[in-house]
Amino acid sequence: MTTSVAGDIVAEIHDLKKKIDAVVLAHYYQEGEIQELADITGDSLKLAREATKVRAKTIVFCGVLFMAETAKMLNPAKTVLLPDLKAGCSLVDSCPPDKLSRYQEMLRENGRKFQTVTYINSSAKVKALSDWVVTSGNALEIVKRVPAEYEILFAPDKHLGRYLQEVTGRKMILWDGSCMVHEIFSIQDLLKMKKLHPKARTIAHPECPANILEHSDYVGGTEAMIKHVGSYTEPTEFLVATEANMMWQLQNQHPQHRYLPVPGITCACNKCPHMALNTLEKVRDCMRDGKPEITWQPEFDKAKEVLARSLLNPLPAAATVAQMAGD
Ligand code: SF4
Repeated sequence: MTTSVAGDIVAEIHDLKKKIDAVVLAHYYQEGEIQELADITGDSLKLAREATKVRAKTIVFCGVLFMAETAKMLNPAKTVLLPDLKAGCSLVDSCPPDKLSRYQEMLRENGRKFQTVTYINSSAKVKALSDWVVTSGNALEIVKRVPAEYEILFAPDKHLGRYLQEVTGRKMILWDGSCMVHEIFSIQDLLKMKKLHPKARTIAHPECPANILEHSDYVGGTEAMIKHVGSYTEPTEFLVATEANMMWQLQNQHPQHRYLPVPGITCACNKCPHMALNTLEKVRDCMRDGKPEITWQPEFDKAKEVLARSLLNPLPAAATVAQMAGD
């Protein structure tokens, strides 16, 4: 697409925002041109919280399906549009709700006392089966609040779960799911890059496998990464192990530094194919046509309660947590 065509579409989107009274929310893993036109950019936690504050009639969610569903659940009165309904997530796919439900049943039958802590990258049905929903931004805080007498069933991201297990010292039953983007970072390439850039700091998302995290100077979600690089006053080189579009946001907020993406084993770009389904044209078209729209599903009723108490409300005391787990 030429610059002028892209510019025309962006102008159309700005007109449509006024016409349909819309706010555009975009995840840090969207293309830079989408992040640039958005009213609000953020990670899953920030966008979920921002969605609750939207006063406009419509939320245009530039991200993947579970994120748009989360916005709908937390602000049900709004029309929530997602540019491409097929924008899914490999973590969601790795945890089918009927499989999780059968596994929970098996644990209960075996007398195991546990709470289910689920990463936000999951379907609404899976959230409805959970005691807590976490993002990489609040996972530590919530895991620490699960009473010690409970085991934790952590789903679906085994890498984030393993990292949380290590940091908190809590033993967890880990679901075998992973993110197709973070899973494929190449340790050989990271080590090569570290040799080539000996002064560079390596920052990695906790969805990365353990061998990448072991060689990283800082591990955190995308919002935490931005804050972390912002704490460096001198221009610094960073090797970045997360989805490649994050480079745009880092550059945008802290242009004094240099960011080098860590390549993947099978793909040099590390772009999420699900996030990439959203394009400028599709953002415009969904605003013009009023679809695809996220409609209320029966499982949203329960999932919404879990989401609200996990992401929005102040955390309750441990005794209340035990009550909520039906103990
Ligand atoms: S980057 Fe990974 S976790 Fe994020 S939407 Fe894509 S597949 Fe899912």
